[in-house]
Amino acid sequence: VAPFDAERVRADFPILQQQVNGQPLVYLDNAATTQKPEAVIQAICDYYRQDNSNVHRGAHTLADRATQAFEAARIKLQGFLNAAESRELIWTRGTTEAINLVAASWGRSQLQAGDRILVSAMEHHSNIVPWQMVAAERGASVEPIPVDASGTLDLSALQAMLEAGRVRMVACGHVSNALGSINPVEQIIALAHAAGAFCLIDGAQAVGHFPVDVQALDCDFYAFSAHKLFGPTGVGVLYGKAALLEAMPPYQGGGEMIETVSFAGTRYNQLPYKFEAGTPDIAGVIGFGAAIDYLNGLDRAGAAAHEQALLAYAEERARQVPGLRLVGTAAHKTSVMSFLLEGAHPADVGMLLDQQGVAVRTGNHCAQPIMDQYGIPGTVRASFSFYNTRDDVDRLFAALDKVRQFL
Ligand code: PMP
Repeated sequence: VAPFDAERVRADFPILQQQVNGQPLVYLDNAATTQKPEAVIQAICDYYRQDNSNVHRGAHTLADRATQAFEAARIKLQGFLNAAESRELIWTRGTTEAINLVAASWGRSQLQAGDRILVSAMEHHSNIVPWQMVAAERGASVEPIPVDASGTLDLSALQAMLEAGRVRMVACGHVSNALGSINPVEQIIALAHAAGAFCLIDGAQAVGHFPVDVQALDCDFYAFSAHKLFGPTGVGVLYGKAALLEAMPPYQGGGEMIETVSFAGTRYNQLPYKFEAGTPDIAGVIGFGAAIDYLNGLDRAGAAAHEQALLAYAEERARQVPGLRLVGTAAHKTSVMSFLLEGAHPADVGMLLDQQGVAVRTGNHCAQPIMDQYGIPGTVRASFSFYNTRDDVDRLFAALDKVRQFL
């Protein structure tokens, strides 16, 4: 593995080599989705050019090739997450579908009236709403674990909520997409287990920034999206402990998820296929396999250190801008800088940055409850990946200077 060199790595991402609105693109919307290295784009093209076929059922060479590449990606993913078995890894459409799968399958079959589900107050909507839906159906409740003004989860409050009893599931983000806070998930999982609850971790904002070991974490479920990990959209992952997944009913019915079907009754397929009804996003899964190969060839510790240096530099510069307020100042953060400019609506700031070639996200970031807690409609969010540079940060602040003059 070569030492980390952002300029060299940047060259692997063709989309970054373009002008937007007359300026070289500065892409700072990595928390929404990451860009794809050439190797991923190539793997998807190669699949459609050479191997396109349906998986698992073909009696011909292309179908064999497609199936092998599709299942090889699962094995790569197993190594990437250090899962004990590849059948613990379910392909989904994304984080959202992975969480919906658990809420619908585990939730419907396990929750009783009066049971409690805990989520953090800074959760993404996709780790709130599926639980609210199943809770309404089963007579259970969904309760927020408090978060302080810096964006740090209150662990002692979590402990007290667990001690009050009847908590069946703690569903918590590994990293907040709106604030960047890294939650102490090892402790959260251990506390949940000590109280007899299960724990699902939403890793959508974690996997792109640091390695995740699901066995070391001892989480029951871990969900994320390939598109935030330099892979394609349309593919996500649900990791679940085998014993739990075995006991869960299927989420969707159809082809692939069955062993035999008759009008007298149907037998379901084994894991992981029991949860993979219908034709999957084969090209997407293979493209994601290429993204894992790409990451395995990268100095990830070096990449993480580079991102942290960019964040520190950006926040230092931000503190010198009059009227700029940082939102989310937890001690442990990924490279996400959420902020407000006094007197300016975040959407206007975003539009004026875009006119200068700087792409950020604005709004509530699908985390409305934490925005409500802070009493703000949303933020401007600049989120850095390892292919960003100090020059990108300088461009952001030069553009913000112009925004401040304009507004
Ligand atoms: N959880 C978090 C923390 C996220 O950041 C996102 C994406 N913004 C999601 C869940 C949902 O991911 P997807 O839209 O890919 O399903």
